[in-house]
Amino acid sequence: MAEKEQIDSIRNVEGETLYRHCGQGEGHHHHLICRECGLTITVVGPAIENWTEKIAKDNGFREVSHQVDIFGRCESCYKK
Ligand SMILES: [Zn+2]
Ligand SMILES: [Zn+2]
Ligand SMILES: [Zn+2]
Repeated sequence: MAEKEQIDSIRNVEGETLYRHCGQGEGHHHHLICRECGLTITVVGPAIENWTEKIAKDNGFREVSHQVDIFGRCESCYKK
């Protein structure tokens, strides 16, 4: 029960804070975040990198950045 309360407090933290706390891996990456339990998985997405680069170039943008986090329910929460 105590464990569950702890998980809830993590879930209530703003997504941005969650991102800063990730600390996983060096450099650019994205996250898969479970909105039920707050489980965060670090992912890389070459397709997204290529797409954003192309969109930026097509529109004459330079030095662009992006932040893509995917929210959903993890496998164990979905099975509950
Ligand atoms: Zn991260
Ligand atoms: Zn979950
Ligand atoms: Zn990216």
